[in-house]
Amino acid sequence: MSRIDVQKASSKGLKELIAYLLESGRVSAVFSLRKDSKTGSYDLGLITEEAGMETAEPLAPVMIANAGQVLSSFAPPAEPIAVVLKPCELRAFIERAKREQGSLENILTISMTCGGVLTRDRVVSGFDSDKVGDYENHCFAGDIHPETRDTCKACEYFVPMNADITVSMAGQEDAGTRCHIYLNTDLAREMAKGFGPDPAEEDFDSSITEGLASKRAAEKERLYGAVMSGKGGLDAVIDTFGKCLGCHGCSRVCPICYCMICDFESRNFDNDMPYFEKELEQKGALRLPPDTMFFHIGRMIHMSFSCVGCGQCSDVCPADIPVASVFKKVGEQTAAIFEYVPGRDIEESIPVMVFKEEEFTEFID
Ligand code: SF4
Ligand code: SF4
Ligand code: SF4
Repeated sequence: MSRIDVQKASSKGLKELIAYLLESGRVSAVFSLRKDSKTGSYDLGLITEEAGMETAEPLAPVMIANAGQVLSSFAPPAEPIAVVLKPCELRAFIERAKREQGSLENILTISMTCGGVLTRDRVVSGFDSDKVGDYENHCFAGDIHPETRDTCKACEYFVPMNADITVSMAGQEDAGTRCHIYLNTDLAREMAKGFGPDPAEEDFDSSITEGLASKRAAEKERLYGAVMSGKGGLDAVIDTFGKCLGCHGCSRVCPICYCMICDFESRNFDNDMPYFEKELEQKGALRLPPDTMFFHIGRMIHMSFSCVGCGQCSDVCPADIPVASVFKKVGEQTAAIFEYVPGRDIEESIPVMVFKEEEFTEFID
């Protein structure tokens, strides 16, 4: 592994690198978060011209949509592009690629050691440069910022597992004045040739993220301990999702809910009068909207073992249900049976899609 140190703040250093990749023609476009200077709003953009780089904010602590989900809708590109994704977005993209909903072909992946993203309320109400400074102070010191999402406070996979390029942010004390860029792959070294000072042969120093990792492990215990605790089974699901409005917002923003047509939104669930009459006859009362519990149980069975814990579902839920914490907790328990970590490795098969003879031999006579 090699490292380039640029004597600039990490956000500036990375912007210079991606501008260099674009100007030199090594990539035809850059996929990054952008900020509109007039409105202060953020979006995800595909930038093809140098002038467009002014709006790029690749390291902003914001997740408008899971960028892995958005990227998969236009990959693979015909020519190389550079994409800046947070570690959970990159893992989501890899999970989607495994389901043939995206491809790593012609994509240079750039990620960062992640301090987490701010809650939707904080982003919508705006944050000025003081707030950004406050966030960065926490991030660079390896602390948890109080206004980050719950799932970020408890995120243990904040060091990218498989990016071509990693920018060191979380726990990197001097990240406000120096940009440490790790070139993890041959592709990265080839692409970055000629940029900045000569790279030094150096591995990522994982000791700088250890402090944050243990703080997050403690948060994870607290957070997951609080969801679906006490009761088990259906009672726990009803307790947690009882106030669900049935808007399906949580599945629409989920990068792992990849079906083009969701069964729960198909005609299969277009209930008509005879259905309601039958239900009323059997139960004497009817809950409306119908099937909200069934929807969550179905989603849990369908995709929770691939949940990357990005927190998008909780962030959009109008009923303030901790959807992400539930899905991550349930998903991790299922994935652990198969020693599976979603998005860790493109070569690793998705558990329910592959049958291995050596699995579950205890159930064979
Ligand atoms: S879930 Fe983890 S990787 Fe994703 S934004 Fe939050 S801290 Fe970063
Ligand atoms: S976003 Fe919230 S209210 Fe809407 S379906 Fe999901 S859990 Fe229910
Ligand atoms: S279930 Fe929620 S936390 Fe998990 S991947 Fe989907 S949106 Fe992200």
